[in-house]
Amino acid sequence: MSCFQIPMGVCNKLKKPICNWWGMENGKKKVHWRSWDWLSTPKYLGGMGFRDMAIFNQAMLGKQGWRLLTEPQSLCARVMKGRYFLDGDFWSARCPRSSYTWHSIMHGKKLLQQGILWRVGNGKAIKILRDTWILEVTPGTLNTSHAFPDNQTVNALMEENGKHWNTISVREFFSEEISKKILSIPISSEGCNDFPSWPYTKNGIYSVRSAYNLARSQLFWKTQSSDGKGASSKQRIMEIAWKKLWAINCPNKMKVVLWRIAHNCLPTGTQLQVRSIPTRYGCYFCNRMENVEHCFLQCEYVKEIWKDLKQEYGICLNLKNFSHIRQWVLDWISEASEIHSMIFAVALWHIWDNRNSCRNGEALPHPLRVSGQIKAYIDFILLNNVRSEGVSRREALKSVKKWTPPP
Ligand SMILES: [Zn+2]
Repeated sequence: MSCFQIPMGVCNKLKKPICNWWGMENGKKKVHWRSWDWLSTPKYLGGMGFRDMAIFNQAMLGKQGWRLLTEPQSLCARVMKGRYFLDGDFWSARCPRSSYTWHSIMHGKKLLQQGILWRVGNGKAIKILRDTWILEVTPGTLNTSHAFPDNQTVNALMEENGKHWNTISVREFFSEEISKKILSIPISSEGCNDFPSWPYTKNGIYSVRSAYNLARSQLFWKTQSSDGKGASSKQRIMEIAWKKLWAINCPNKMKVVLWRIAHNCLPTGTQLQVRSIPTRYGCYFCNRMENVEHCFLQCEYVKEIWKDLKQEYGICLNLKNFSHIRQWVLDWISEASEIHSMIFAVALWHIWDNRNSCRNGEALPHPLRVSGQIKAYIDFILLNNVRSEGVSRREALKSVKKWTPPP
């Protein structure tokens, strides 16, 4: 997978068992409660974070391209250059009648091109119009007041000593906004060669994980954003909330129920009715129509549970501004403390678990008994799995005594 482009047919075969995560049990087909698009969306964008094999494969192939680019003296890079781009560079290389290996590397190059950012040294290798060297400006979209030759390099915009930008030239050729960006780019004082960097990792080195996230996020914004351009500031806030949801200190099964509540994809009465599944659609606690809001928040039965939890932990549901279940869940988690988020997830899971027990014929417990179960579970988490606040994992590990040789 790291050297060859996997055919789409094979990727789809690998995808199928993951798609059946909800859709298959003991060989029987069941309801797919959320689409593959959502299941394969990264967790920080509201998905379940399953790997999209085709994109993952491309991210791995991008790593091979990165090696050719950053280690030009390696034997492999010299052989490839001699065979495929003897008179040009890696970016100008094509793949007509090439081997499957090279064809695969060229597939990875497409992803590499989308994320790479050139760092300016002496400016002799970076093409002004063709390469990505200004942050958030993609090649081909750079407008200049005068026409540049296609192969004009960045050193044409520098002083003769190559240590500073030629401010007059930069302002003459580019708009005010782009000029500001260019003049803020640092130049190597020692005149070293230009080098590629990967701005999506802290150390600037390409990683498969960051490349996968870049490609999958781009696909997500392409399908989700209204203008197809990318995330708005409101959506960035949602990213933080999704991250907070998955960081809650409780078992994963509880986070999954919380995720399904936010996505409104639990088998409540209304959802089963929409899918024409013949069963009971009413609430198992009060027999009213059961939708996700009613089941977890509005039913008189669950209100008793929340009332008891409010008295015990001061937890408040803030239903005054309720408009949409997903927005409400994310807003609630964004504003809540770490402990309250944990209580919230544990309580919702227990409500759902008791609802399912009733559905399977068990007697309806008193609401205070359910809140008692929730409190006991919270005590269990706090006693056994609490994270000491303000102490990082690294600091905690430092405090562990290591073996030292005897004197
Ligand atoms: Zn009810």
